[in-house]
Parts: sequence; C-alpha cells; structure tokens
Amino acid sequence: MVHKITLIPGDGIGPEVTKAATRCIEATGVKIEWEEVIAGLSAQEKTGEVLPENVLKSIKKNKVALKGPIITPIGEGFRSVNVAIRHALDLYACVRPVKYYEGVKSHYKDIDLVIIRESSEDLYAGIEFEEGAPETKSLIAQIEKYSKKKIRPDSGISIKPISKYASERIAEFAFEYAIKFNRKKVTAVTKANIMKFTDGLFLKTARQVAKKYAGRIIFEEALVDNMAMQLVQKPRNFDVLLLPNLYGDIISDLCAGLAGGLGVAPGANIGRDIAVFEAVHGSAPKYKGLNKVNPTAMILSGVLMLRHIKEDRAAERLENAVRQVIATGEAVTYDLKPNPNDPTAVGTKEMADAIIHQL
Ligand code: NAD
Repeated sequence: MVHKITLIPGDGIGPEVTKAATRCIEATGVKIEWEEVIAGLSAQEKTGEVLPENVLKSIKKNKVALKGPIITPIGEGFRSVNVAIRHALDLYACVRPVKYYEGVKSHYKDIDLVIIRESSEDLYAGIEFEEGAPETKSLIAQIEKYSKKKIRPDSGISIKPISKYASERIAEFAFEYAIKFNRKKVTAVTKANIMKFTDGLFLKTARQVAKKYAGRIIFEEALVDNMAMQLVQKPRNFDVLLLPNLYGDIISDLCAGLAGGLGVAPGANIGRDIAVFEAVHGSAPKYKGLNKVNPTAMILSGVLMLRHIKEDRAAERLENAVRQVIATGEAVTYDLKPNPNDPTAVGTKEMADAIIHQL
C-alpha cells in the first residue's frame, strides 16, 4: 500500500530536518508518496502568500502531514501560520511524548510520559483587547457591571474561554490514547482551585470522562504549579498528562527540557480525522543551511506518524535505529555530544545516514 502524505518542508532548518526525516522514513521500506506544499516565509517569498490555498487543501485530502517548522512573517495578516493551520483543520489535540533516550544529556534517566494539550481554546484563542482602545473601555465597563469588581482603566484584556465540548473531546482523546498505547494513568492538570468556571469546568468534565474508563485507566488530578515542582523532582511518577492550552504549552517545554532538549522532542497535532506531525522546535534561522542541527526531533515525529498510519513495525524499527545511534554517541550532532564544540560531531545529513545504516 502506498500512503499519500502532505509534506511541508518549512523554513530555516526545516528543509534539512524534514529531508533527513523523509529519508529515514523511506528507508524503513514503507511506501509513501509525498505531496510537497510550502507555507510560511518560504511560501511568501515564492508565491506572495504565507498560507497558500493548496496547503490546507492537500492536508484535508491526504489527512496526514509531516511538517517542518515555519516562520510567520510580521504583518502578513496572521499572528501565526501554525495556529492558523491548527484552527482551520480543527487540530484540537497537541500530543508530545517525552522520553529519555540513553546518551542524551538529561538530568533524568527514567522519564517516559506523554503530554496531551488541548489546543483550540483557552487564553490562546486569540481574543484580546488592547489597552486604551474604545472597545476595551466598553468591555471593562460591562465586566465591572456583571462581576462587581474593579478593573484598572489602563488594562489590556485577554479572554480565556474553556468549553465543556472542547474539554470533553480532549479528555476522551487522552483516555483513548492511554488505552491505545498501554498507558496506565491520566493526570488532569489545572488551576481549578482559582479559576473555577474555566479550569474548574475542564476538571469536572475530565472527572466525568474518567468514570467511563474506571478500572482500566487510573485518573489523578494536580494543580499546575505543584505539577511543575513534582515534574522536576520525580517525573517518573507521571504517565499521561492532560492539560488546557496555556499550561500544556509551558509544561511541554519544561518536559522537553527534562528529557534532553528541543533537538529530541517530537510532536503531533491531531483532529477528528486529520493529523499533522512536527518537531517541537522552531526554524532556528541562525543554523539554516549549515547541515548542523539535530534531525532527531523530526525523525521521531516521523515515528509518531508511522504509528498513526498503522505502520507499527516500521515505527518500532526506526525508533530503535535512532535509539542505537544516540546511545553509541558517535554519529550524532553537536548538541548530543558531551561538549558542543566536539570536532567529532556530525551534520544533520550524516546523522540521518547513520540511522539509515542502522536500519
Ligand atoms: P527555535 O526552536 O527555532 O530555536 C531555539 C534554539 O534551540 C536554537 O537556536 C538552537 O540552539 C536550538 N535548537 C532548535 N532546534 C534544534 C535542533 N533541531 N537541533 C539542535 N538545536 C536546536 O526557537 P526560536 O528561536 O524561538 O524560533 C525561531 C523561529 O521558529 C520563530 O520564527 C518561531 O516563530 C518559529 N517557530 C516555529 C514553530 C513551528 O513551526 N511549529 C515552533 C516554534 C518556533
């Protein structure tokens, strides 16, 4: 069977790391027909548009995409092309596995958890009112009237909508994910003791969904500030973390740091029937074209993609090849060497070559 998959090479280091990833994926023997489209700065330079129509069209048609990091040029009508893609395709679940691989510089050797972050609403919904604007003043007046609380007149306002609908579907997603990948526990992370009507609703909904999985998946609750401390002290205690958008963003980066940094952190944005796989890191423009950065995060995003398209055997082989190359510590990029100036560090392409050789 040939899988048709949308490929967005991206900006900055994007083309280098996606090339490394597609070569490794193809080396597993899985047959893929890539449909390449461009978005972001490179698309603007070539077509005048940052998000050409064919990008969403292609992803909607193929249902699966592998995406490099993209840069949103300022003043192009989009605050972020990445967020625009997620919204347009309703990719409401951001999935970030956090796992230690032997040989990676990390404070922890037994971390293996998955972050499931709701990514359609919360403070990131983009509903903001600028300080001093007439509508902001009128909004402040309305809020003061209904809440009977004072807001300083020189305030900016960001709105935090959290719905029952979105909380329910992300909680369902987290539990189904736990079942599918043999995980034992889901921990809902909120600040429900303070934000009772938003985080409180998220938590209440998660509790209801958890009841359906009782006896199969353990459910726990934590406050986000306490979670930050616990993760630093004993990350091994956690399995699947379920979070609203903002906390999910922050805790994801914290966990990426715990497990060895951006060079090895894969991710996926998943909706009802569409999934886009991409590394957590950005386009690191200063390294563009230098054949220097670590392709692992993108290759591991490819591993997640292979599992998604039910090519489990290929996914396992590719992950093992990555694991072995990192553990051996020879054909790895500068960031995986004990000293980043180590002259034996290899380039992006050469690390991919070593992984393919291992396969
Ligand atoms: P970044 O992740 O691009 O880079 C930060 C630093 O992390 C780099 O300077 C580098 O030292 C290190 N790093 C990142 N990827 C690495 C890799 N594969 N191997 C080794 N080291 C690596 O973050 P930034 O500088 O904040 O963002 C740069 C651009 O990327 C911005 O335009 C931002 O908007 C964009 N961005 C895009 C995405 C996305 O498309 N999903 C995500 C984050 C940032």
